Amino acid sequence: MKIAFIGLGNMGGGMAANLLKAGHTVNAFDLSAEALARAKDNGCATFTSVREAVAGVDAVVSMLPNGKIVDSVYVGDVIGYASKGAILLDCSTIDVDTARKVTAEATVAGYEMVDAPVSGGIGAANGGTLTFMVGGSESAFARAEPILAAMGKAVIHAGGSGAGQAAKICNNMLLGASMIATCEAFTLAEKLGLDLQTFYDISSKSSGQNWSMTSYCPVPGVGPQSPADNDYQGGFATALMLKDLKLAMEAARSVDANVPMGEKAAALYEAFNEAGQGGFDFSAIIKTL
Ligand code: NAD
Repeated sequence: MKIAFIGLGNMGGGMAANLLKAGHTVNAFDLSAEALARAKDNGCATFTSVREAVAGVDAVVSMLPNGKIVDSVYVGDVIGYASKGAILLDCSTIDVDTARKVTAEATVAGYEMVDAPVSGGIGAANGGTLTFMVGGSESAFARAEPILAAMGKAVIHAGGSGAGQAAKICNNMLLGASMIATCEAFTLAEKLGLDLQTFYDISSKSSGQNWSMTSYCPVPGVGPQSPADNDYQGGFATALMLKDLKLAMEAARSVDANVPMGEKAAALYEAFNEAGQGGFDFSAIIKTL
């Protein structure tokens, strides 16, 4: 297949490389000359505009920073410029309303489109082990699935348009709150005189067990290798967790949902980010407790 890839940054660069490995041809466009040069080294054909990159392709994949940019790229330069019949896949994390609006405009113009945000960070993007949660019609999902499978280990149909973004922000709201709760539990355990490895051994086999503890432990030297063992470098940046929590709060307001734990997590990550810690992994919030 000939696929246009828009936004080859930290995540998109590795994802496009995996499409190439699967035997697809990739037309790359990014505003950053550096990102484009890396894409070229990996074997992508590079273009100087979105419109040129999407001409004559079977599919368009995007991995962009936010909803405003996704809207302007699709409405301004993809819809009406990509070949008729091309399937459109936006893998960025954006707000549900923009995802639905852009898909609606694409549909009116005769395209099928899915929102397909990912779980997994830069390592998973490079390694082709992302999880995709997909919003769109049955027929759009059927066409998107094999393309996404080349970049991930799991591709799940979440429901209609916007459902992928809804699943993503609900998941990450849960992750943000559970990470803070895990950090609190270890901090309290230590103050109560417990050995932290012993607490891990107990809690990881008890009802407090959760992913933030057993796959991503915020305490250095405890549990599997995690960013805590590397001075909280790499991993999932606090600034990105905050972005997702803000999207979750915006979505909660739009449907009048009561999310007090999510609100608290958003406020704590906002304060941590404002304290200049946005580049550190989100588990570094343990330092504030
Ligand atoms: P990034 O900033 O590294 O990459 C974004 C790329 O988009 C950049 O190369 C930028 O130059 C390019 N870009 C911006 N505006 C553009 C435009 N108008 N046209 C073409 N290119 C444009 O960000 P990232 O970490 O790769 O994240 C991308 C998306 O993936 C975000 O929505 C983020 O929330 C989501 N995400 C990131 C992670 C992560 O761990 N980094 C994990 C899951 C989801």
